[in-house]
Amino acid sequence: MTLDDIDRVAVIGAGNMGHGITEVVAMAGYDVTMRDIRTDLVESGYGDIEWSLEKLAEKGLLDESPGDVLARIETTTELETAVDEADLVIEAAPEELALKRELFSELESYTDRRTILASNTSSIPITDIAAATERPGRVVGTHFFNPPVKMDLVEVVYGEETTDDTAETAFEFVESLGKTPIYVRKDVRGFVVNSVLGPFGDEAAWMVSEGDAEIREADATMVHERGYPMGPFELSDLTGIDIGYHVRTEAGRPVPPVIESKVEAGDLGRKTGAGFYTYEGGDGPDYAPEDASDSFDWLRIEARIINEASKLIGNDVATAEAIDTGLLLGAGFPEGPCRRGDELGLVSVLEKLDSLYETTGADRYEAAEHLRELVDSGRTGEEAGEGFYTYDDAREYATIDVEHREDGLLRIELDRPERLNALSEELRAEIIHVLESTDDGEVRAVLFEGAGDRAFSAGADITGFSGRKPHETEVTRLNRIVDEYPRPTLAKVDGFCLGGGFELALACDLRIATTDSEFGFPEIDLGLLPGGGGTQRVIRMLPEARAKELVFRGNRIDAETASEWGLINRAVPGAELDSTVESFLSDLIGGPPVALRMAKRVMNEGRDIDLDAGLEMEAQAFGLVLSTEDANEGTTAFMDDRDPHFEGK
Ligand code: NAD
Repeated sequence: MTLDDIDRVAVIGAGNMGHGITEVVAMAGYDVTMRDIRTDLVESGYGDIEWSLEKLAEKGLLDESPGDVLARIETTTELETAVDEADLVIEAAPEELALKRELFSELESYTDRRTILASNTSSIPITDIAAATERPGRVVGTHFFNPPVKMDLVEVVYGEETTDDTAETAFEFVESLGKTPIYVRKDVRGFVVNSVLGPFGDEAAWMVSEGDAEIREADATMVHERGYPMGPFELSDLTGIDIGYHVRTEAGRPVPPVIESKVEAGDLGRKTGAGFYTYEGGDGPDYAPEDASDSFDWLRIEARIINEASKLIGNDVATAEAIDTGLLLGAGFPEGPCRRGDELGLVSVLEKLDSLYETTGADRYEAAEHLRELVDSGRTGEEAGEGFYTYDDAREYATIDVEHREDGLLRIELDRPERLNALSEELRAEIIHVLESTDDGEVRAVLFEGAGDRAFSAGADITGFSGRKPHETEVTRLNRIVDEYPRPTLAKVDGFCLGGGFELALACDLRIATTDSEFGFPEIDLGLLPGGGGTQRVIRMLPEARAKELVFRGNRIDAETASEWGLINRAVPGAELDSTVESFLSDLIGGPPVALRMAKRVMNEGRDIDLDAGLEMEAQAFGLVLSTEDANEGTTAFMDDRDPHFEGK
């Protein structure tokens, strides 16, 4: 069974996950049947899909009408009807092994031998479910995150018997949904994301239990200093303190006393009105940035997270890339743990674990063999040039796609389509690395574009935003580097160009967009303001009233308005985008490099100085350019009535 063979999908369960998965599958163009055990349950799931599709349509996130998507969804209470023609079944029934085993054995009898049987379980071993069938090779985990419509990650989990063929088809299927799959190559408890996330709450709970930290201090430091979207105690309240308690007891791991006492008192978090914070009659997670403290030993938590990732890599469960993708997309981490480990330096991570192990003797600090091997072999992180990843000038980029064409075009594609190419810290750092490490003598022009067909970039990645102090971010630095880059730069915009994405486009020299692109600064709606040069660039480019309208109202303008206002060079129909961009590029690439560089410099600098000083600067540049070989070539070619050939000399 390959991806091409999958036309019809069945989803078992119309609950939280089942209805969301059904919606995502239908949106991707598949015919799908959703099954639950009672008509009212099926109807309620279907109603949830209708509501969600309407919301997506209102936000302009649906390519067709909700009705078109709904037309691909059928519902039933009969299991056999649901699955008999399905090429792939995704089970999202309650998390009970006996129930799932019974279901899978029935599924087997109603489906073709080639049909892939997938489970959305978050904690039951795939192997145990698969064992209820005669064809465990065809059983695989497809672990979607909640809510499936919004969450991009899906873990594709191997049971002991799962064949590569099955896992690969499931992986490609997930990609065809526009989601990001990662392989979990062994059936480990918690798969990848929950295993690595585990120590986040666990170590914080031990620190509080042992009197080394306060709850608010832990949450505030992890959020405001380390960039996590939620504090460990806030997260535990949200998921339910009892859930974490059971996960530990089932795994035979000790339970931190603060967790035990909450469970004993029945204060299980949000759902019971109280947990580590008070919800009913209280303010919920009311920690403030001031609660963060320098003495909070966050490395205890991060070292354990990185250690957990090392174990998975050492045991061939997942690659560093898969783990980082998983934690970024599945847990909202500001940075993948392997990447962060490389940045922190693996020696300090290992030393922290070793010293905790020495003083406490607790298993949880026992360093992974893989981590020790990395350190012993000198692969201690970014500074050493190698750690979990390899760092050199020809480094592989995770969030951008770079092409250096023979004609001198440096093409940089923002490559996070699953996040509408949101500008993460890593993405910014990667662009800076490309621009700084490529010899600009070899570059004639730079083109920025966004992957996928929905956005140039929808803005800054808010995840991990709050934790950073402005001087620590690359926002302004990136845009300054782009603005001052000694070659012409062009932003090719197809879709959303918002916030930080808009600022990057504005830092380019030229902008060409499709007519259905949209521009705007939504920052004000978040209680922020454009922070990457946006206010300053638009106030210089536009009449004041228009600039302030953009920033103050936070509304989007379409490409035609942007073009009328003079914010972009052209707004063209989608079909003409490539040819228009290429015709601009051919002028930029074929133009005289020295004269273009000087023109760019004097025009940029001229923005901020008075006319006389500007004219003076221009005269000097003109004098310099006059003596270049290119100027000679340009005038000679003009006389000879041929195209000039500029060499940048
Ligand atoms: P849910 O309780 O919201 O939905 C389960 C649905 O399955 C219910 O509507 C129930 O009536 C139905 N059902 C029961 N027996 C059935 C059967 N034999 N055939 C068809 N339907 C049946 O649960 P959920 O949150 O959607 O979770 C479903 C699965 O997804 C579980 O395995 C869970 O661990 C997993 N999961 C949940 C989340 C989450 O955050 N909720 C995230 C990832 C994975």
